[in-house]
Amino acid sequence: MAKVNEHYLKLQAGYLFPEIGRRVRAFCEANSDADVIKMGIGDVTQPLPAAVIRAMHDAVDELANVETFKGYGPETGYSFLREAIAENDFAERGVEIDPEEIFISDGSKSDSSNLVEVFGADNKIAVFDPVYPVYVDTNVMVGRTGPALDSGRYEGLVYLPLTEETGFQPPLPKEKVDLIYLCNPNNPTGTVASKKTLQKWVDYAREHEAVIFYDAAYEAFISEDDMPHSIYEIPGAKDVAIELRSFSKTAGFTGTRCAFTVVPRQLTGTTSDGQSQALHPLWYRRHSTKSNGVSYPIQRGAAAIYTPDGKQQVRKLVDFYLENARLLREGMSDAGFTVYGGVNAPYVWLKTPTGLSSWEFFDLLLEKSNIVGTPGSGFGAAGEGFFRLSAFSSRENTVEAIARIQKSVAAKV
Ligand SMILES: *Cc1c(COP(=O)(O)O)cnc(C)c1O
Repeated sequence: MAKVNEHYLKLQAGYLFPEIGRRVRAFCEANSDADVIKMGIGDVTQPLPAAVIRAMHDAVDELANVETFKGYGPETGYSFLREAIAENDFAERGVEIDPEEIFISDGSKSDSSNLVEVFGADNKIAVFDPVYPVYVDTNVMVGRTGPALDSGRYEGLVYLPLTEETGFQPPLPKEKVDLIYLCNPNNPTGTVASKKTLQKWVDYAREHEAVIFYDAAYEAFISEDDMPHSIYEIPGAKDVAIELRSFSKTAGFTGTRCAFTVVPRQLTGTTSDGQSQALHPLWYRRHSTKSNGVSYPIQRGAAAIYTPDGKQQVRKLVDFYLENARLLREGMSDAGFTVYGGVNAPYVWLKTPTGLSSWEFFDLLLEKSNIVGTPGSGFGAAGEGFFRLSAFSSRENTVEAIARIQKSVAAKV
């Protein structure tokens, strides 16, 4: 008899987005004329920048010609893309990253789940609460946690609560942990960590020989000066951190898929007999054994982001969403809500009206305003009493959503 991986059975059935889908479908069936606006899931809505489209078209044409045809590419990505990343995302910010330390992939979701493979089974793992569910579920799947508890948390993980009191910057773990997931700018709270805060994490990791997974999927949305765009801007970080970046939110690649990880050569873990072991060769081995990389036209499209036209178009795209975020922040605040985030991230994190849980507010917003958001408690126990609105909608829908909430829900605040 084929045995299943029973760790999968620990995963909680009511995963957030399917539950949202279920409630929205039920509402739409009962109210077939309702014009529902979706501001829940973090997907982009605007088309790819023109420079990207152009580069993808040209690349497809190359594949049509025997002289320029390409078969398998380098497993870790074409050097034209890795060099453009090293130059534009890092060297321009005073960070030296060798293109060989950059690994191109089909997405940060896959990267963050694949990374757990090159670490031993008995690491102590710290995550924020609320948290991007992928970090937790992928560790559950490989058996790094115990069962789910009533709170929705998993036994064995260290949860660091993001609270209003600390500006959604969690305390350092009280116990020693080995792996730390940091998402900055943060999904779901939309807040960002300063250099001083990141320095604290880097110092902790150095002291405890921990490794930080630094997910910077929303880096492009940082609009305040002086905020760190890469963890490697923090002294000492190359010894302790892996950085994950994605073109999904930056340039609208959620459907076309392209991302990368940076694994510095000097970054090490330890073996059970206490030997230091570099992580770069392990990640290289994993990448080249299990993947043949990302398609040539997509990598050409990603590289076009770094051309002068591409940079300008990406700026415009990001600014468009940031303007939605500003409208949401101000509109919700005018409606009487306490609002966080939305300045350096495309998410606004609001406090639900007194006495309403995250899911109760979800239902209220759906019924009264026909708007779908994301209940904060779906991202973790500490998200209870909060609600996430995404700025990835069209301008029209953003403006309409604000008007509806101000008209029909504000009175409850
Ligand atoms: C959207 C998102 C990503 C990007 O994932 P891709 O697989 O690259 O599309 C990564 N991390 C977080 C926290 C996200 O919200």
